[in-house]
Amino acid sequence: MAKVKYFYNPHKLKFETVKISWLTKALRIFGFVCASVVAGFLFLVAAYTTIDSPKEKQLKREIRNYQLQMELMDNKVSQLSAVLNELQEKDAHIYRAIFEADPIPGTVRQGGFGGVEKYRQLEGYIGSDQIIAVQKKLDMLGSQVYIQSKSFDELAKMAANKTEFIASIPAIQPVSNKKLRSMASGFGYRLHPIYKTHKMHTGIDFTAPSGTPIYATGNGIIETVELGHRGYGNHVIINHGFGYETLYAHMKKVVAKPGRKVKRGELIGYIGSTGTSTAPHLHYEVMKNGKKINPINYFFNDLTPAEYDQVREIASQPTQSFD
Ligand SMILES: [Zn+2]
Repeated sequence: MAKVKYFYNPHKLKFETVKISWLTKALRIFGFVCASVVAGFLFLVAAYTTIDSPKEKQLKREIRNYQLQMELMDNKVSQLSAVLNELQEKDAHIYRAIFEADPIPGTVRQGGFGGVEKYRQLEGYIGSDQIIAVQKKLDMLGSQVYIQSKSFDELAKMAANKTEFIASIPAIQPVSNKKLRSMASGFGYRLHPIYKTHKMHTGIDFTAPSGTPIYATGNGIIETVELGHRGYGNHVIINHGFGYETLYAHMKKVVAKPGRKVKRGELIGYIGSTGTSTAPHLHYEVMKNGKKINPINYFFNDLTPAEYDQVREIASQPTQSFD
């Protein structure tokens, strides 16, 4: 039974039934429905923003897991960087020093991370900062490893050449001089035996009887064989490569042939007194990049340290040269 509503009519002094039109009823129902919908919507919004759905819960778990993985990767990259640093130190201070290679500038070794633009696509996500930081570290590590491997390539080449270099560089005395009595005059200003003035003596003189064998002091190629030169007389020049040449002057007889390879210790001729020479002797010169240098520093293969001191002493005396 529908509820009947009454109201008190003061004019008629009696209660009368309230008559509600259909329109009013319809509006009321509509209003109620609207309010319910709005209330429901607000409730859902509140629920969605405060309570996670199972899927959201799972996604959040995954994100946490990724972040953890990223931290572990970051640690691993830092460890690798430390190992690479040690390699770089060894490379710079040991390997490159041994092979007399130019050092690699620190700025080059550091390597780059490829500009800001490259990481823009990684921006705007949860954990972007972490991902970009790890990515930058990885990129730097990559370029540092590349530079390091290039350095090792260079050193490997140098090591291969070093054997040849050691065999080629002048390193023995050009005449047999076990008792060290052959060395007569050193490199430097010496009284010239013919001009009787102090002149720069650009080599070392070894005295020995005419016909004493003369040996190549390092591996190389016979560059010059010249007979009857006014100053040097019969002489030989050997090109050892790496900028080194040696000259052997005043020979009695030359056995070396131009263009032929020689090994250290190989016979190239015999002591004589041809050219400007006052007595049988070998005038021996060492040249580095075209400049005549003191041969005393190139006898290290066949002298003990004590003998070397003695030779230095003899070579430094202001004796008269033989040519
Ligand atoms: Zn000389």
